[in-house]
Amino acid sequence: MKKSEEPLIPRDFNGSFFHKNLKSWYECYERPLPWRVLWKQHRDPWHIWVSEIMLQQTVIKAVIPVYERFIKRFPTFEDLAAANSEEIRLEVRGLGYYRRFDLLHRACMELTKDGRGLPQKHHEWLELPGIGTYTAAAIASITRAEPFGVVDGNVERVLCRLMDIRLEPNLPHLKKHFKQLMDQACSRGCPGVFNQAVMELGQTICTPTNPACNLCPITKICSAFKQNSQHLAPAPKSKPQLIDVEMQLSIVSHCKKIVLCRRPDDAKFLKGTWGFFTAIRSRQEFHHDGQQQYGLKLSNKKQIGRVKHSITKHRIMANVLALETTKLPKTELIRIVDPRDVEENLVSNLDRKAWVLLQKKLNLD
Ligand code: SF4
Repeated sequence: MKKSEEPLIPRDFNGSFFHKNLKSWYECYERPLPWRVLWKQHRDPWHIWVSEIMLQQTVIKAVIPVYERFIKRFPTFEDLAAANSEEIRLEVRGLGYYRRFDLLHRACMELTKDGRGLPQKHHEWLELPGIGTYTAAAIASITRAEPFGVVDGNVERVLCRLMDIRLEPNLPHLKKHFKQLMDQACSRGCPGVFNQAVMELGQTICTPTNPACNLCPITKICSAFKQNSQHLAPAPKSKPQLIDVEMQLSIVSHCKKIVLCRRPDDAKFLKGTWGFFTAIRSRQEFHHDGQQQYGLKLSNKKQIGRVKHSITKHRIMANVLALETTKLPKTELIRIVDPRDVEENLVSNLDRKAWVLLQKKLNLD
């Protein structure tokens, strides 16, 4: 047997205590997050599906207002299927990782096209675009009590501490063991409640730094607690190498209005989103991001300042410019908006930061 395949779960691991205590704790301390409230009221898997997509790579605090706005605008998956991608992007503006919403849209269109309705089973969820093992397990366990465990960053941290595993928490062989342990625990009953309980513990009590062990319902079986090694388990994740990108964002005005462009579908960053004109530095020169040219004649260039922003593994430093144009070409790829409406037309926080910087500069001048 290879070292990575040896069982990590101690023989004497008290699975029954783990399951029972976390479940009872969650039933008392569960936070009334909007998707949980909606699920209790309507038992509609759509509400859980949307929350699971939004929570990928995004903190709960940022998700809540966007989730509430989104569910109001798209109360059913059929409503989302009937929308266009631009409307959808505007509703999720600021969350980042916009491809996940394109995939959600595609999945909804597939479901309405052949009149299938929402999936009933774990394996049916897995067949949809944008749904992987974690999301399928979360939805199936919460909505249909199917015994599939979830393993996200919070679960990894809790389990590493429970077993005092001082390794990086997301190593593939650990993931495999953790998935088995969570599946087994879920088979003891109430998988949806149990999965959410472990994640909730990681979010609120067993936090990355200074875990509140005095409030934890499973100290009795926690090895890191016994060894006082919570700061050692798990080991920090190795940081991905960041790529520096120099960008230019041009905020163009025309007759006291602001000109926005639709970024090309072949752009490197923020494909298909509406925002400011974007160029990327390659060697000594800046080039439009993507093949699309907009044909604007620009004048009165002013330096506004610089903004920092990260997109996946890219660390962007954007030089913000203000320019004017007297003539607009006829194309669907640009539109003019009143300055008061600019913010709600911007999808990315990168554009929003540039816009805020311009406002500050105008107020100072
Ligand atoms: S006892 Fe402390 S370290 Fe162990 S699971 Fe609970 S909060 Fe985490």
